Amino acid sequence: MFEKIAEFFRNLFSGILGGGSEKPKPGTFGKPTSTFESDELPEAEPSFPQDAPELDQDTASTIVVVSEEEPVVLEPGDDPAVVITPEEETKPTEPEVVVDPVIETPPVVEEPVIETPPVVETPKHKARYMWCLDNGHGKLTAGKRSPKFEDGKQFLEYEFNRDIVKRIIEQLEKKGVKYFNVVPEVNTDNFLEGRVGRANKLKSSLPKIFLSIHANAFGRSGWEPPSGIETWFYHNSRSGRALARIFQKHLISKTGWKNRKLKSYPGKKQFYVLRNTKMPAVLTENGFYTNKEEARLLLKSSVRQKIADAHVLAIMEIEKNGF
Ligand SMILES: [Zn+2]
Repeated sequence: MFEKIAEFFRNLFSGILGGGSEKPKPGTFGKPTSTFESDELPEAEPSFPQDAPELDQDTASTIVVVSEEEPVVLEPGDDPAVVITPEEETKPTEPEVVVDPVIETPPVVEEPVIETPPVVETPKHKARYMWCLDNGHGKLTAGKRSPKFEDGKQFLEYEFNRDIVKRIIEQLEKKGVKYFNVVPEVNTDNFLEGRVGRANKLKSSLPKIFLSIHANAFGRSGWEPPSGIETWFYHNSRSGRALARIFQKHLISKTGWKNRKLKSYPGKKQFYVLRNTKMPAVLTENGFYTNKEEARLLLKSSVRQKIADAHVLAIMEIEKNGF
């Protein structure tokens, strides 16, 4: 009876707090479970948006915006790296042990100590997660480029995303953090199923996290005013939101750019990679290449390094503390 009441309240609160709904189990969306659970890649669902520019942002009233400062109450199992141990049983008090009288032992002959030079040990990072780093689009993806500058230059999103991933990888290598470069090839289109399939199929002894890196766009053509950084997570995913908070915090503090907060998109048409990855996932939108000033900055090596560094700071915080 008590268990039933507890269950009722658990359900009630998870509903109210917007928690309790992690990603749908594979196969529960519009396709038979058996197909999805086989080893095949999921079927193409081209109607799914792949990133923020495809949502007519700022006009789509359905986008949910939350502050990265709002805490997320995680539940056991949300962070796959945290091992849940069953509550310790209370042991009955053991009877006092009667200590035997001490028997004298002959003195120990000490051997001469041979001095060895001290071993200098560099502190090794103990990898906690497997970071699946995704660069969003390929060279063959339509659009995903800025209007042309006066000198004919253009910002190309596939190139930016790859450069940021490359800069992140350089640092993760040095720090001993495990990663998987999901799409190292360049001459590809969106390759959405491929991205997700590769990450989902990757065998790893560490829990996997999917990080998709993008730059943002507004409008269909020409320069537009919106600017800033936002981080997306799968709607109602506590783990996704907990991760997104950490990325957004570091991205804003490193760049000082406009904080467009954490976003999620309720409903069936959530971003393909957030929806279909079978692991906690986030997608960062690092500034607008349709904003002329921001597009200029996004072409600068020093700015790109800041954006990469912010991602690395977030990764290292999560590697250290979980999420
Ligand atoms: Zn994108």
